[in-house]
Amino acid sequence: MTAPLFPLFADLRNRAVRVVGGGAVAERKVEALLRAGALPRVGAPVLSARLQAWHDQGRIEWQAGEFGEDWLDGVWLVIAATDDATVNRSVATAAEARRLLVNVVDDAELSSFQVPAVVDRGALQIAISSGGGAPMLARHLRKRLEIQLDDAWGELAALFARQRERIRARFPDPGQRRRFFEQLLAGPLPRLFRQRQQAQAEDLFETSLRQTATAPAQGSVTLVGAGPGDPGLITLNALRAMNEADVILHDRLVSDDVLQLSRRDAVRIEVGKSAQGHSVRQEQIHTLMLEHARAGKRVVRLKGGDPFVFGRGGEELEFLRAHGIPYEVVPGVTAALACAAYAGIPLTHRDHAQSLRLVTAHCKDSQDTLDWAALAQERQTLAVYMGVAGLDNFRARLLQAGRAPQTPFALIENGSRANQRVVTGTLADLPDTARCHQVRSPALLILGEVAALAGTLHWFGAAPLHAAPPHSANLQAPTLPQAA
Ligand code: SAH
Repeated sequence: MTAPLFPLFADLRNRAVRVVGGGAVAERKVEALLRAGALPRVGAPVLSARLQAWHDQGRIEWQAGEFGEDWLDGVWLVIAATDDATVNRSVATAAEARRLLVNVVDDAELSSFQVPAVVDRGALQIAISSGGGAPMLARHLRKRLEIQLDDAWGELAALFARQRERIRARFPDPGQRRRFFEQLLAGPLPRLFRQRQQAQAEDLFETSLRQTATAPAQGSVTLVGAGPGDPGLITLNALRAMNEADVILHDRLVSDDVLQLSRRDAVRIEVGKSAQGHSVRQEQIHTLMLEHARAGKRVVRLKGGDPFVFGRGGEELEFLRAHGIPYEVVPGVTAALACAAYAGIPLTHRDHAQSLRLVTAHCKDSQDTLDWAALAQERQTLAVYMGVAGLDNFRARLLQAGRAPQTPFALIENGSRANQRVVTGTLADLPDTARCHQVRSPALLILGEVAALAGTLHWFGAAPLHAAPPHSANLQAPTLPQAA
């Protein structure tokens, strides 16, 4: 076992660093050096296009030619980044002789310093090293940290750095100081930075600096779109919110795969509205959000798809605002986008559709308020939510308003999930086809010329099922061929 490396962050501003090599690897090293304010001196017979550009802009020096020991004159550090092992070795030996720290790219043996994998949040940097022995492991860990740490961390670091002297003066005792930081970090400050409320964040900091007593924790609600089901479709912000949540209030539409990603000790409460009925009333959901937020909890209100598309997200925010509960919104991939993508249906297409409408048609009342003349127009795509029950009426009204009976449709059931089914046909036999294949909620209807493209562009799960033959329309629904 070799001894572990000594970790260190070097101030390289205005300090010369020799980089030997002029290719892609050297380019990456030079870029990092420039970010740190160093003065890269590149030595190589030829430069890559980007290195050449930096040289033309006067940002780097260039010695053309082959490596010579005089290349190490006057530099603080050396990086050997050529693809020639002999050259790299000569650089390492020469640097060693001059007691210069040297990094030979991808060669821990020849290197006297390593460049770590870095998670970069402004002034805050997390460097990961495996001692050069397992760079893949370090990179893997880096990816995990990248996902967990949002931009707010950089802002926090900058604020604390700016206020360092004042904080020290206010809390000379290190224990007191630590408690001050811990309280700030557990409170709303990180959230204010995430919400780009710079001024409020500064205000909060000022108040906290003046306060002596500890304020009670303040809860909040994050409205999060969980997407259509495939856990790969949730956003990094959604993942972070779910990881920090104390309480998760989720709809039934949210898939188990997505719920699995939330913090293990978070309390999960299903306030499931199934597509058929509303099992927990909206007022009860409001009350639950309020109670938990007032108790100082971080509440995540997790909704299928996007919270602002037929998700009553607006009502929930109005309620929270009325009660003074701070909130955030994380958008999600709405069913229309996900179902279209997973069925191979481009929602707009230069040849077929120049606009897209998202509509809901779950009951007669909602259908009565729709502008059917507008919906019946050609060269547009309709994405219809909650439509399975009202298909007969939907077809009749559209035909009446003049949409062609042969307009293609696709019904996507359980879009993006393992049990996805796609049923295609034309408007004329839409309800019969849906019945024939026993399409169930959640299902989304896409109507318009583009729907026909599912036949050729599908890529996920089973191929689209076809329309029922016209004469079978009134027959009893046969048992389903199970999607493979
Ligand atoms: N806020 C959600 C929509 C809620 S309304 C969103 O943005 O997606 C519920 C309707 O969404 C369902 O009746 C169905 O039409 C559609 N839907 C949601 N998830 C779906 C899925 N995985 N596959 C097909 N349709 C879905």
